[in-house]
Amino acid sequence: MKIFISSDIEGTCGIAGWQETSAGGIGYEYIAKQMTKEVSAVAKVALSAGAESVFVRDAHDTGCNILQKELPNKTEIMRGWTGDIYNMMSGIDMAKYGAVMMTGYHSPARSVASPISHTMQPYVESMKINGELCSEFMLNAYTAGYFGIPVCFVSGDEGICEIAKELIPEIKTAPVLKGVGGATISMQPEDALDLIKEQAEAALADEHYKKCIVELPRSFEIQINYKEHPMAYKNSFYPGAIQVSGTKLRYKSTNYIDVLRFVHFCAN
Ligand SMILES: [Zn+2]
Repeated sequence: MKIFISSDIEGTCGIAGWQETSAGGIGYEYIAKQMTKEVSAVAKVALSAGAESVFVRDAHDTGCNILQKELPNKTEIMRGWTGDIYNMMSGIDMAKYGAVMMTGYHSPARSVASPISHTMQPYVESMKINGELCSEFMLNAYTAGYFGIPVCFVSGDEGICEIAKELIPEIKTAPVLKGVGGATISMQPEDALDLIKEQAEAALADEHYKKCIVELPRSFEIQINYKEHPMAYKNSFYPGAIQVSGTKLRYKSTNYIDVLRFVHFCAN
């Protein structure tokens, strides 16, 4: 089977601040290298578990963080942004994947579980789907669910690993750091890689991944709370969107593709 990996940076072992998330920032090079090692570890596990190929989506910022030459053979990588609505899951519709795995994921906007918690763009104060705080993990897991693909592994901060288990009880997780106020506490980078390997192996062993199907809600009510009210006003002109307060926008649909389209135009 083919494996799809979506890789973010804010849940990479060792990360603590925004400056480490963008090229040119102090500490970025080191974190991008660790991000590469983490995604590479998962790709290697997938290939040795019998995957015929691995597709890696570099899903952070410019989409050009992972050092491609460090990835194993039989791995393809998508760098940059196509501009499609699948976003951090871009490429998911391009082949028939057996399982989705995620690395470097992080707690959602408004969560106290990471000093760099966020959901999509920084102007989003918080996002909710059907009343639950919405993480990038949730958005992307539902995307996988829409295509009928299980999500069997996630590494990242402790907060997102807990959220992942609530959504997909059988998912294997590798919490490699945790947030405390404005700080993070991380394990050693090599220990993080060991934990990632161990959990990724467990996710694929004995077809465990098949238990990690994502249940898609029958209907979606998505709410975005913006930090600044002009953004809510501007995006209230999106077809079907309703501005429910100064900073809040609400959108409803029974089709998840509509939700992705709304997020694409109003939170991205
Ligand atoms: Zn992110």
